[in-house]
Amino acid sequence: MRVKLAEKYGFCAGVRIADRKVKKFASLGGADGKILGQVVHNERVVEEMEQLGVPTIDSLEEIGEGTVVFSAHGVPPSFHRQAQSRGLKILDTTCPFVYDIHEEADRAFEDGAHLVFIGEPEHREVIGYTRDRDPRAYHILKTIEEVEEVDWSRYPKVKVLYQTTLNSEDYEEVVKLIESRAPHASRADTICYATKENQDAAQVLCADPTVDLVLIIGGKQSANTRHLWEICRDLKPSHLIQGPQDLRPNWFESVGTVGITAGASTPDYVIDEVEEAILKWPAAAVGTHAEQERGEP
Ligand code: SF4
Repeated sequence: MRVKLAEKYGFCAGVRIADRKVKKFASLGGADGKILGQVVHNERVVEEMEQLGVPTIDSLEEIGEGTVVFSAHGVPPSFHRQAQSRGLKILDTTCPFVYDIHEEADRAFEDGAHLVFIGEPEHREVIGYTRDRDPRAYHILKTIEEVEEVDWSRYPKVKVLYQTTLNSEDYEEVVKLIESRAPHASRADTICYATKENQDAAQVLCADPTVDLVLIIGGKQSANTRHLWEICRDLKPSHLIQGPQDLRPNWFESVGTVGITAGASTPDYVIDEVEEAILKWPAAAVGTHAEQERGEP
């Protein structure tokens, strides 16, 4: 079998910087550090950080002293204040683009706008934008039905912002409906260019007639990896995997060329492992959980 990689895939600049910052911290003896939430949404990266002595925790309360690492997705501003008031040191790996969106939301709010975040309420990035705000000051929406439930006449001015990792085309109808219902609604283009580039390249890969099957590599909790898979599965037989252990023999019957793309939080070495397994196929790459058919996350 042959492998064709997407023109653009894998780690974005924000995640690459976060990964490097934590590794540098660990190499300088950062034994007192803990990462609040996955530094990036990839289980292999989390394991790697743990082995380097910087484990992941779920809440600020779990750290008594030392350094707290804030992930690339950012945190609510109050987390910085809490950490400082408790005497914790902070290693902030928040992506600058995420900070831009915090500022954009603040400006719009000060300008009297009701904020609408298009995204997942439980995603850490969205929690960062919203947790410190008065719940009456914003909505988090994703569906037409949710938009229809809102009394938009209460909000003379509305600002729409997107979770960075979404595919904007998927939410065009939702945002258009908001714009048609709210008297003065405007949108901020907060979809991350890196996510968009990976998505565009994945579409090109799927359109390639020589590619028979597409593998999307990424973490279980990675929203941008899932969105890549959603794009690809409509265009080509596609499977979302975390690594070579997820490959299934029956996927490759009559397959000549396998296309590969990866989410913005997938390290290069995992992509290399998958590529290597396919190139050595069938000798080395049969999944360890062969009984579990995987066609979806
Ligand atoms: S996907 Fe974009 S916003 Fe998110 S960490 Fe990467 S560069 Fe930053």
